[in-house]
Amino acid sequence: MKVIIKKRDVSQYKKGCPLIERKTFVASACAIQEGEIIELVSEEGQFLGRGYYGVQNKGHGWVLTQDIKQPIDGAFFETVLWASHKKRQGMFDPALTNGYRMFNGEGDGIGGVTIDVYNGFYMIQWYSEGIYAFRQHILQGLKKIPGLRGIYEKKRYKTAEQMHQTNDYVLGEIAPEPLLVKENGVTFAAYLNDGPMVGFFLDQRDVREKLASICNEKTTVLNTFSYTGAFSIFAGKSESHTTSVDLAKRSLIRTEEHFRLNNIDPEGHKIIVDDVFQYFKYARRKEKVFDIVILDPPSFARTKKKTFSVAKDYVALLDEAIARTKKGGTLIASTNYSGFDMKKFKKYIRAAFQQANTEYKIQEMYTLPEDFPVHPQYPEGNYLKVVFIQKI
Ligand code: SAH
Repeated sequence: MKVIIKKRDVSQYKKGCPLIERKTFVASACAIQEGEIIELVSEEGQFLGRGYYGVQNKGHGWVLTQDIKQPIDGAFFETVLWASHKKRQGMFDPALTNGYRMFNGEGDGIGGVTIDVYNGFYMIQWYSEGIYAFRQHILQGLKKIPGLRGIYEKKRYKTAEQMHQTNDYVLGEIAPEPLLVKENGVTFAAYLNDGPMVGFFLDQRDVREKLASICNEKTTVLNTFSYTGAFSIFAGKSESHTTSVDLAKRSLIRTEEHFRLNNIDPEGHKIIVDDVFQYFKYARRKEKVFDIVILDPPSFARTKKKTFSVAKDYVALLDEAIARTKKGGTLIASTNYSGFDMKKFKKYIRAAFQQANTEYKIQEMYTLPEDFPVHPQYPEGNYLKVVFIQKI
């Protein structure tokens, strides 16, 4: 179907912005089906791009080509997937790292879908019903990739409840539970068929490696919102003393499992199941301070007592974290909240240190790693922001 774009919005598509937004349509109320191929044209009838319709929190679909002669068919998906597979060749030493993102949505040419590889198993994440309509094409394309052991999928456009009900296996071998995955020589346990998250986040790889490089047997590390303890394992590998804090009961078992898989005795580390805000209160009373404090909260979270959102609560969290960091120590502030960019994040950091009446120096900054390419005309896709801050 043809969609006419408002005059003032034509330039954004001409420049190559891949995100399709309904508000740019002349007939913004027109009826379109999820997964329908749409052709964007100017009021003068000039071709602007071809893509698909699919409602996501970000927008209403993605442009897939600006080439008028390029059809959106099986061969198109196959070519794009193969190119992204090729791009990852040589990026990692397979003896040390076999978990990475092989397809990063619009950054690799098709918005609304990501594909991660865990030791030969492919995990597809669908972000709209629209992209799911192309599932067969994508599966066909993936089947041609050498070394593929099996495919799993997660539908990210369903509610959390619905996501728990699905069986995520698609084809090929059934993955062991846990599936052992390597990252820079460290072993992680991935559970491909166990709820919305598999057990560790690939996008923090470079941050974990950096963390390991600044830790030694004298370093004390506080890892808040620790999930399965991925940061703690890297710090522990450098013989640091870690304290992991997470509200989820499962975090305790999973963090212990991660320590054991890497021949680190969990007894030498503290794993605390608690609300981070409560833990901060306790640590303040006990005047506990650490050489390194890691702050990597979810963008949103609801606990029994309150709702947390990065946008509203980050400065307060930073203030607590600053107080728990030794003078001369390092605070690692991280967020994957796409609602603000690095500039705004640094503003939050400045505000928090000012409030704490403390000097600081930014040591390192990280955004998404190499296997998470960002579309040049859609910089908002670079959601990760990590800053290493020295308290001085
Ligand atoms: N930093 C982790 C990922 C964090 S995921 C890593 O790099 O692997 C977010 C985690 O925050 C989840 O495990 C969730 O259980 C936890 N969480 C959410 N709200 C919390 C709270 N108020 N206190 C402690 N943990 C919380």
